[in-house]
Amino acid sequence: MDDGRAPGHLTVVGGPMFAGKTEELVRRVHRAQIAGRGTVVVTHVLDTRYGTGRVASHSGVVAESLAVDDAGAVRGIVTPDVRLVAVDEAQFFGPGLVPVVLDLLDAGLDVVVAGLSVTYDGWPFEPVPALMAVAESVVKLTAVCSVCGRDAAYHVRASDGGSPVDDAVVPVAAHVGGTESYQARCRAHRTPR
Ligand code: ADP
Ligand code: MG
Repeated sequence: MDDGRAPGHLTVVGGPMFAGKTEELVRRVHRAQIAGRGTVVVTHVLDTRYGTGRVASHSGVVAESLAVDDAGAVRGIVTPDVRLVAVDEAQFFGPGLVPVVLDLLDAGLDVVVAGLSVTYDGWPFEPVPALMAVAESVVKLTAVCSVCGRDAAYHVRASDGGSPVDDAVVPVAAHVGGTESYQARCRAHRTPR
């Protein structure tokens, strides 16, 4: 993969649900495409909210994507014409995404990673925090708190009545969802840890 190019640039877009992470990722992908840079958008097969073959924001912004089932599989879809690799919903890939991203950067590719930086019970959600630590550029976004309208750095799972659900176990697949099951919350209205 190393053809002597200068190392790439890592941008990490992190935050809670509804923060506009996918919008920001797609905006950057569209700019690269306008510039004629070979771009590939990667999602995880676990994220089937909008069907396979595309990423979409809650507001309807869309880009074509390839779905893979494992962080290592990202290496296999990078063809020689690719200059920018964009990974959405990074939390689905787990910590194994970190060495893959570092290898892509060393090989001269630019990488944009978007994903949840926090779990719905308020803890750092790898691999986004680790990738933020080694990135050239970090975009930390907030959503709008569904209770009071303040900046929301958190999100919660909501029951039908809108109250947080107190789940002890956090299966990764449980983080697939939209407005029907999650709400953005500020620090004052997050789920008590
Ligand atoms: P993310 O990828 O961070 O989950 P998206 O990019 O998919 O976010 O969607 C962001 C869009 O979600 C906003 O532009 C807005 O239209 C919509 N939205 C819905 N609920 C909220 C909220 N509570 N706070 C901010 N935006 C929201
Ligand atoms: Mg998103």
